[in-house]
Amino acid sequence: MANGDRFDVVGFDADDTLWRSEDFFTEAHERFKALVEPYAPQGVDVLDALHATESDNIPISGYGVKAYALSMVQAAVTVTGGQVPASVIGELVDHAHEMLMHPVELLPGVPEALAAVGASHRIVLITKGDLVHQTRKVRTSGLEHHFEHIRVVLDKDLATYRRVLDDWSVDPPTFLMVGNSVKSDILPILELGGHGVHIPYHVTWAHEVVHDHDGDFDTLTSISELPGWLAGG
Ligand SMILES: [Mg+2]
Repeated sequence: MANGDRFDVVGFDADDTLWRSEDFFTEAHERFKALVEPYAPQGVDVLDALHATESDNIPISGYGVKAYALSMVQAAVTVTGGQVPASVIGELVDHAHEMLMHPVELLPGVPEALAAVGASHRIVLITKGDLVHQTRKVRTSGLEHHFEHIRVVLDKDLATYRRVLDDWSVDPPTFLMVGNSVKSDILPILELGGHGVHIPYHVTWAHEVVHDHDGDFDTLTSISELPGWLAGG
């Protein structure tokens, strides 16, 4: 039996699975460090402070660029004891706007892989983050037509997946989720009784890194391998 015969529906993550995302945050971190560090006392790690602020703010402002912008401003003010100039805050906010307006950059092989998988399976998109930004990326990506359903969620946890699959009348054992984050795209789906294929991206946000797990799933090097994996056994 081919792997693909076990699934009716294949779900895809979006950020760093279909298109680049984390790279832009990495650039923003570097910009933050360059702009803010000169105003912070010596010995203060401004990026550490930013990461901690981001993590603390997730329950309050969620994921995505707008939440990140608020964390940058908050961390800049805090680590400099209020000494950061308004012009620097302005640059941080401008950079966040640039991130929001940046055109979608698809990862190699994505349209071809979606077309191939879509020929044999129903496919859906589940992405977390800011509703406006994620919706804009989906709509401008040219990929929207591939998906039977698209859902932007607040978080990718067990309860959320259960609710979304239930809404779509998808039975978890017949569902395969494909994504770059073991924590968000794979482990909750396995726990629900579904299946996962991990396609790592070259950078993973610190918040998404999991070191210890005993999840049973396959890992592919590129999304281009997915049609062959589904056809194989
Ligand atoms: Mg992702």
